[in-house]
Amino acid sequence: MAPEMTTNLVLTAPEHRVGADLDAWLSGSGGLGLRLALETPSGLISLMEAAGLRGLGGAGFPTFRKWAAAAAEPDPEKVVVCNGNEDEPGTFKDVFLLRETPHQVIEGALIAGLAIRARRVVLYVNPHARGAFDAVAKAVAQWQEHPLLAAVGAAVGGPLRLEAMRSPGLYIGGEETAVVSAVEGGFPFPRRKPPFPAASGVGGHPTVINNVETLATVSHIVRHGAAWYRGLGRNGAAGTKLFSLSGDVQRPGLYELPMGTPLSELIFVHGGGMLLGKEFKAVFTGGPSNTLLTRDELDVPMDFESVRARGSRLGTGAMIVVSEGTSIVRKVAEYVNFFAAGSCGQCPPCKTGSYQLAHLLQRIDTGLATRADLDAVEHLCDLLPGSGRCGLIDGAVTVVASSLQRFRSEYEGQLAGG
Ligand code: SF4
Repeated sequence: MAPEMTTNLVLTAPEHRVGADLDAWLSGSGGLGLRLALETPSGLISLMEAAGLRGLGGAGFPTFRKWAAAAAEPDPEKVVVCNGNEDEPGTFKDVFLLRETPHQVIEGALIAGLAIRARRVVLYVNPHARGAFDAVAKAVAQWQEHPLLAAVGAAVGGPLRLEAMRSPGLYIGGEETAVVSAVEGGFPFPRRKPPFPAASGVGGHPTVINNVETLATVSHIVRHGAAWYRGLGRNGAAGTKLFSLSGDVQRPGLYELPMGTPLSELIFVHGGGMLLGKEFKAVFTGGPSNTLLTRDELDVPMDFESVRARGSRLGTGAMIVVSEGTSIVRKVAEYVNFFAAGSCGQCPPCKTGSYQLAHLLQRIDTGLATRADLDAVEHLCDLLPGSGRCGLIDGAVTVVASSLQRFRSEYEGQLAGG
């Protein structure tokens, strides 16, 4: 894992890093957002809409829509799940928040519970994230006796169950319908949508599933208002974003920056530029399941719309930088191997297709492949998208297709006789 550094903007500000100590959290600005939310719970959903808060785990879906959909359901046994299953290569933002500032996350989850009138709030944490589950479990234990939790329970019309649980620690366990399966105690098989979890999730109850970073942001919006949050961003985007910067840069680490900050600024200013003697080659943008960007694309503002306009996605905010001399084919083969191993096996095209892609890429990387192998890779890239219940196979294809688009000569140069 890369060393942790931060620009200390909002979520990563030093005063929030009190670990699992609830008294320390509440003696600062902690708890103020929740107390305010208790005064006006009916305004929380429209506040999130006005702020423009979006899912910061990768999808960028407007938070208020999930909350409003769940809140509109008549079932009183609603559930909030804080999705802390973070497991993608190059992404290490949620582990930081869960370990260093779990009360910030819990407070946001409780505010979400207030907004939809939930009776159960689950902190779902990857057990492989170093120190995260222990910090969250300890933090949750401290809330159990605190009058603020009882006040939230009273406001939602019944006792509120707050609990920490270990996720299965598998990549697929972060997909939102897989989260539902896992919280119910089963294997994290993704399910077909609709129904969406907001209508029918854990145990058939309306369930809001929000990422750790999204929920950590909520109490700040309640305290400071929608205009404040919108004003934090650049290029018309709202708020801040945590970026996990790794690879061949001088200062890899975690950076909280205004949403809309140019990618070049992250790499060459905050990250200190390339390692001595290395030349920039490409960046896996938003994690390994997205599109590669090259040097002439680095001016892109890092916000959902701008990155999408370049044919990529902001994803989790992971930026993996590679230098000249790094084999793109090998890097992509590693990522496709990861996805093949992570496939849950429910959809034959995903399970067999991802393994076949991984196998073909390995043949190319080791100089054993012919033109027919490369043609087969391209055929699979045409055939596989949309063939699975979830987006895993689409992500694997995206990274292969985008690398082929930008580095075709590298693939062709490694063909036998090429
Ligand atoms: Fe499982 Fe792959 Fe189907 Fe997703 S696409 S449900 S990972 S087999």
